[in-house]
Amino acid sequence: MELTGHMLIGAEDVAATAGSMKALNPATNQEIEPAFAFGGAAEVDRAAQLADDAFESYHATSLAERAAFLERIAAGLEAVSPELAERTSLETGFSAAQLQVEIAKSVTQFRQFAEVVRQGRFRQAAIDPAQPDRQPRARMDHRLQKIAIGPVAIFGASNFPISYSVAGGDTASALAAGCPVILKAHNAHPGASEIEGRVIRGAIEDTGLHEGVFSLVRGGGNEIGEALVAHPLIKGVTFTGSEVGGMALFHRAQQRPDPIPVFTEMTSVNPTFVLPAALAARGHDIGDGYAERMLVNVGQACLKPAIVLAIHGPGYDAMKQAMTARVQAMPARTMLTPGINTAYRRNLERLANAGAERIAAGGDPQGAWDGQAMLFEVDGTRALEEASLSEEVFGPAALLMRVKDEAQLFALARQFRGQLSATLQIDADDYALARRLVPILERRTGRIVINAFSHPQEVSYASIHGGPFPATSDSRFTSVGMTAIERFLRPVCYQGFPDALLPEALRHANPAGIWRLTDGELSRA
Ligand code: NAP
Repeated sequence: MELTGHMLIGAEDVAATAGSMKALNPATNQEIEPAFAFGGAAEVDRAAQLADDAFESYHATSLAERAAFLERIAAGLEAVSPELAERTSLETGFSAAQLQVEIAKSVTQFRQFAEVVRQGRFRQAAIDPAQPDRQPRARMDHRLQKIAIGPVAIFGASNFPISYSVAGGDTASALAAGCPVILKAHNAHPGASEIEGRVIRGAIEDTGLHEGVFSLVRGGGNEIGEALVAHPLIKGVTFTGSEVGGMALFHRAQQRPDPIPVFTEMTSVNPTFVLPAALAARGHDIGDGYAERMLVNVGQACLKPAIVLAIHGPGYDAMKQAMTARVQAMPARTMLTPGINTAYRRNLERLANAGAERIAAGGDPQGAWDGQAMLFEVDGTRALEEASLSEEVFGPAALLMRVKDEAQLFALARQFRGQLSATLQIDADDYALARRLVPILERRTGRIVINAFSHPQEVSYASIHGGPFPATSDSRFTSVGMTAIERFLRPVCYQGFPDALLPEALRHANPAGIWRLTDGELSRA
């Protein structure tokens, strides 16, 4: 596919109105062709008008039609997989092999959401039939289903250039819900974004949908993002990135005359608690497995286990030595962008200034934007005094907290802000302690993992990629997994409707054959 650098607004390729940029290869520090167009508020307005025009016809598609559209996107991504992986590798420093895995994840997500649409359970159809003879007051026929909230703005993430970006889970779940999408492409991978965007546009053309179902815009500063969040035709926003950026957009949306939901996924250190019996029995293996996991993607992952806590005792030194050996053996590797690399270096200084001791370093940086692996240690007393030690360092660094006793472990657990995940390493003799720790963690995290290393998120019904603030701005929802669709839905009750006027999901004969709650009982009748 030839990259043109245009924005994709509906069916139109739109040239720059506010300057342009070239992608940077962070491994060589060289720019890559072509130039990518920047737009502003006018392009956002054009895309939003088209999305609004598209809403009614797209929302009215049958479950089968919408599922076929999502499957067409999946097939389109498969078809461009080699060139998408190659271009993304140039723009991110990630290997093409690793990116093939990410593309496969995106393909699977679109197919999974196609299945979610076909099953129709996302409508959460509920029927409370009329009770004309009920005393003291008759009950009217009430029927409820969930419908799409309207056109939404999605901010592509920098760190997963496919599965959390243009063709990522946010786009898949929004389109599955019936929401037209305006994608704000991340400037860290503009070529990858264009390839993914053109696949989605191709699927729209192939399935005969309204051109406004998808647009891709790009900008050179905050203006375009702010214009998107402020636009009166946009009815919801998703974002993955920094806490500062996410909260700026969240507050902007709340200042609108008509505030809209903003689902931000921002920051998490995913603490790992190594309990005493596990530490004594498996200290070395835990340290080795932990360090391997925290270095994945050069530590640029929302689920990176950034902090490990253990009570000082048998096995502690073996764990520390294993972590040290892994970190020392790790060559410096290219980080995603100059900005992310600069922030990483600044955060390493922050840790040292806050009282953490540097106990291991990986190979020296060779390229301009290489991130050097680092391991720090701090004692629990200092960590309690200095809460900033519990904040995220985005990159290949970890902090080992040497804890005095159980009381200090509980105090540290209570000090963490909201998290995406927390992990326990335990053996059978740790169960009593784990039972006391889990309720503390439940209040602070969306996911608790036992005996794995902040395991990658499954895309499934039981998965949660969310958690209390600042992990996200709304702990009731997930951005990964089948229930991610719920961010884009709202309930509508239809009261006293004749069958001929009811939406498909609520008709008496249940023509779509979906699961419905009738008088409180689930059935497909
Ligand atoms: P970011 O700076 O928050 O930017 C994310 C996206 O939001 C970009 O498209 C950006 O546009 C836009 N944006 C940010 N602030 C905005 C504002 N005030 N108004 C309008 N648009 C705004 O995140 P990033 O570039 O991906 O990385 C920066 C830092 O974020 C990293 O160093 C890391 O600390 C953190 N991060 C965390 C995670 C995680 O999962 N925990 C993931 C990614 C990044 P522009 O690029 O045009 O500014």
